[in-house]
Order: sequence, then structure tokens, then C-alpha cells
Amino acid sequence: MTLIIALMFIALKVKELTLFEKKESNYSMWLISLFFGFLSFSVMYNQLEFEGMLLDLREVPLFFISYIGGWKWGVISSVLPLFYRFLLGGPTVVQGIGLSILLPVLLGSLFHLKTVFKHPIIIKIPEMMIGCTIFEIVKFIGLYLTTPITIPLILAMFFFASIAVLAMGLMVNDNHQNISLRKELEILSNHDPLTQLPNIRYFKKNVETLMAKQSTVTISMVDVDYFKNYNDTHGHQKGDHILKTVGLILKENVRVDDFVARYGGEEFIICFSNEVNQTAVYDIVERIRKAIEVYTFEGEEHQPDKRLTISIGISSTSKNKTLEQLIKEADDALYTSKKVGRNQITEYGSGI
Ligand code: GH3
Ligand code: MG
Ligand code: MG
Repeated sequence: MTLIIALMFIALKVKELTLFEKKESNYSMWLISLFFGFLSFSVMYNQLEFEGMLLDLREVPLFFISYIGGWKWGVISSVLPLFYRFLLGGPTVVQGIGLSILLPVLLGSLFHLKTVFKHPIIIKIPEMMIGCTIFEIVKFIGLYLTTPITIPLILAMFFFASIAVLAMGLMVNDNHQNISLRKELEILSNHDPLTQLPNIRYFKKNVETLMAKQSTVTISMVDVDYFKNYNDTHGHQKGDHILKTVGLILKENVRVDDFVARYGGEEFIICFSNEVNQTAVYDIVERIRKAIEVYTFEGEEHQPDKRLTISIGISSTSKNKTLEQLIKEADDALYTSKKVGRNQITEYGSGI
């Protein structure tokens, strides 16, 4: 039991570290199943021998993987222990394979409640324990009728197997709660709660990494025109709604590899990368400007230009420049767009 719990704990920690970023895939399910097979096999080393019978908790990992993953993964896990039990031989080899290897897979799969591997899997502990108890009862009736096993031994095995299954369930639940919590915290710390866009800290971290990989990038700053006026006329809440919509329109109009973030206030920032050229950037930015211009925002008729618009500044490309320099360039260009009448795009160094 100690071995099961210790190995399970280590495996969950490894999983937490290695699979944290990824979704559970078929590949990781293979690894998990093979691990459970190994777990079952390894507990067979520390057996209690009773009248030629080899008693251990080999069924625990097999029931557990079949319960949470279904029959396919249970069968994969059972190959190694099955083979090993066969090699060990003895008078109760058939019972050992049938009742302690095949039966847990069968009953685990029957009780498998489509708790497929998804994030986060939360195992319903009472349901699992009912399944486990039914399996143990069937198993011990089988053993009692076909082997010289005694009632006290049955009760002891039943107790240890139940504790081990329960501990495994609680550990998995705990592990998945940790993962979800960490993901939630990561999202919260990297995203702006109003627009759900990445925040400027996350933006800078990502773009700096990108620039370190020698990628050429261009930065664009976007600012809502006369936003103070909108807030003053319609209130802060309606203003918030505008910011959300502007964020969505920006995201809809950039390419997949471009990175949109909320810079702060009513300003947004975009990083264009991936073989970028200034004409392509200008075209995308113009598409964004136009999309905002034609979108009908609630109450925009009270804006000074009778519609809600944005001004945009574009930096030069990033050769030999830092991100801060590019942001400053885009900001200077944005300032020019404001000065020359708003609802405009200015490229840094274009001489306007
Ligand atoms: P300009 O065309 O020159 O950009 O004028 P502006 O009114 O947009 O610029 P200004 O900097 O004077 O005002 C920005 C306003 O944006 C003021 C501030 O209250 C508002 N603002 C900043 N953050 C938020 C926010 O999260 N929600 C709302 N509703 N308003 C915000
Ligand atoms: Mg501003
Ligand atoms: Mg503004």
C-alpha cells in the first residue's frame, strides 16, 4: 500500500511538472496506463504468501485506471502484471489472473462513468468506492469458493485495498485541483479582467522572448478617440463595454500570430511578427481602423465626430531596437495621428 501511494505521489508530481502546459493526449494516456501497469507489477514483488496463494494489492491500480480511463486503458495496464503473474505460476495462477487482474479491469470499466481524462478530472469518490466495494466482494467470493483463503485475510485485504483506492482518488483530485488553481492564477495574472486580453506585462514578456529569437516585429499602439467624452456622456459602465468591443474587433482583425494586448486605460498594443513587412502591417491596421469606424457603437452619435473611432501609431521594424524603443516609436506615431485629426494611422518616421 505504501509503495502504491508513494509511486502514485511521485507520478502525479511528474505529471504536474511535465503536462502542465499540455492537454491530456493519447500519448500521455499511454504513459499513464503503462505506469499503472508498472505499479501493479511492482506491488507483486512484496507479496504475502498464503497456502500457495500470492496475495497483494495488484488489483488496486488496475481497478483505478479502468475506473477513470475505461476498459481500453485498463487492458493496456493489465498486460505487464498478467504476464508476470503467469510467469510466477503456482496453484492459484488462474484465480490470480482472473480475479485480481481481469476482474478489476472489467468492473472498473463497468463503473467508469465517462470520467474521461480532461482537465480537471474530479473523481466522484463515493461512486468510485461503491464500484470498488462491489468489485472486492465479487473477487473475494470467487477467492473464497476456489482457494483456501480465510475470512480474516479477506477482511484485511479488503480494508487495505479500499484504503489504497481511496488514497489514489483523493490524490488525483487534489492534484487536479492544484493544476486548475495554478492555471486560473496564471490566467488572472496575465490577462486584463475587463477585456480578457493579455495584459502589458504578459505582452512584454512574450514579445521580448520573440525578439530574442531574432524575429522581426513591428509594434502598433491603438487609442480610442475622445474616450473621456464617451465616459462623461454615457457613464463608466458603458465605457467599459466599448473597451470590450474594441478589444474583440482588434482580435478579430489581426492574424493568428499577431499579439493583441491591453496597454492600459483605453489604449491597446499589437505586436506584428512572422515575416512582417510594413505594408502588410499597414493593411491590417487599416482594416482595424475601418472596422471600428463602421461598427455601430451605442451612443456614438454624441461623440465629437458623430462616431466612435480609434487612432493608431505604427513603429518601424525591430532591427537593432529594444521593445521599449519600438513602443516609444509607436506612441510618437500615435500622437501624430491624434494631432492631425484622429481616426488616422501614422507610421513612425513617415515624415508627417
Ligand atoms: P484622445 O482622443 O486624445 O485620446 O482623448 P481621450 O478622451 O480618449 O483621452 P484622455 O486621455 O483624455 O481620456 C482617456 C479616458 O479613458 C479617461 C479615463 O477615464 C478613461 N478610461 C481609462 N481606463 C478606463 C476603463 O477601464 N474604463 C472606462 N470606462 N474608462 C476608462
Ligand atoms: Mg489615451
Ligand atoms: Mg483616447
